[in-house]
Amino acid sequence: MGFNTIIRDLAKYLNRMVLLNMLVLALIIPVVFMALGVETSIVALITAAGGFIICIANLLFINQYFMRKTESSLTTSYDALQNDYLYDDLTKVYNRRAGLIRLDEEFARAMRSCSTLSVAMIDADHFKNINDTYGHLVGDKALIHIASTLKSGLRECDILVRYGGEEFLVLLPDTSSSQAALPLDRLRRRLAEQKFFAGNAEISLSISIGIATLSALDNNPMDVIERADKALYSAKRSGRNRVVYDCKIPGFSPALSEA
Ligand code: GH3
Ligand code: MG
Ligand code: MG
Repeated sequence: MGFNTIIRDLAKYLNRMVLLNMLVLALIIPVVFMALGVETSIVALITAAGGFIICIANLLFINQYFMRKTESSLTTSYDALQNDYLYDDLTKVYNRRAGLIRLDEEFARAMRSCSTLSVAMIDADHFKNINDTYGHLVGDKALIHIASTLKSGLRECDILVRYGGEEFLVLLPDTSSSQAALPLDRLRRRLAEQKFFAGNAEISLSISIGIATLSALDNNPMDVIERADKALYSAKRSGRNRVVYDCKIPGFSPALSEA
């Protein structure tokens, strides 16, 4: 329910209450008691007492019913607004705005606690071909599939963001390059091996991944993103469907990252 509807409802209820009160005070009470032959001064007294009781009833009604109704409507509207503000409509993962806020927070936290933070830039390979061959709706479903595959393979503490059209960003707190590269490579492999269907057509999907880890030389979070982006670019140039990292990672040989 939107704010306009709430305000309209409020005005409607208040108008109804005012009308009802006027009806009771100006017509019903005096007319009924005068018809019963009650003395005018006592009718005035009963009308005043009736007004007092109606005021209390109104207050109770506003408090018990309308305030609660308004509160729950406002909470629903706020949740919906917050949802739009933070999450991507299509894939339901964080949108870029929320992702960059989370990046700032994680960067500050890693600096403060002298811990590590890895960042992965992920781009769907030849995605334009999928749209051109099967249409945008299938392209959309493919993006949802990619997002849910990534989400299902990440840890609870990892942060998945739709960074742009067919690009995703993953923030991996407390994770070194070597700890980030192996699981992300497993995800890349899973996505390439899984079957994705559009009607009867089986569509091959693959992603390229660039990873960078926070270093002492990084002054701000965008420095890490920039290095991850460079690594992604290099994954694309060297054939796609692979993971490239911006430094030598012990235990992760480049051969492992190949398709
Ligand atoms: P590369 O492997 O070099 O990344 O090639 P690519 O085709 O994936 O890259 P390119 O930048 O040429 O095209 C990206 C495509 O992603 C084009 C754009 O229409 C599509 N795309 C971006 N956002 C959406 C979306 O929300 N839905 C759909 N269906 N397609 C999208
Ligand atoms: Mg792209
Ligand atoms: Mg692409």
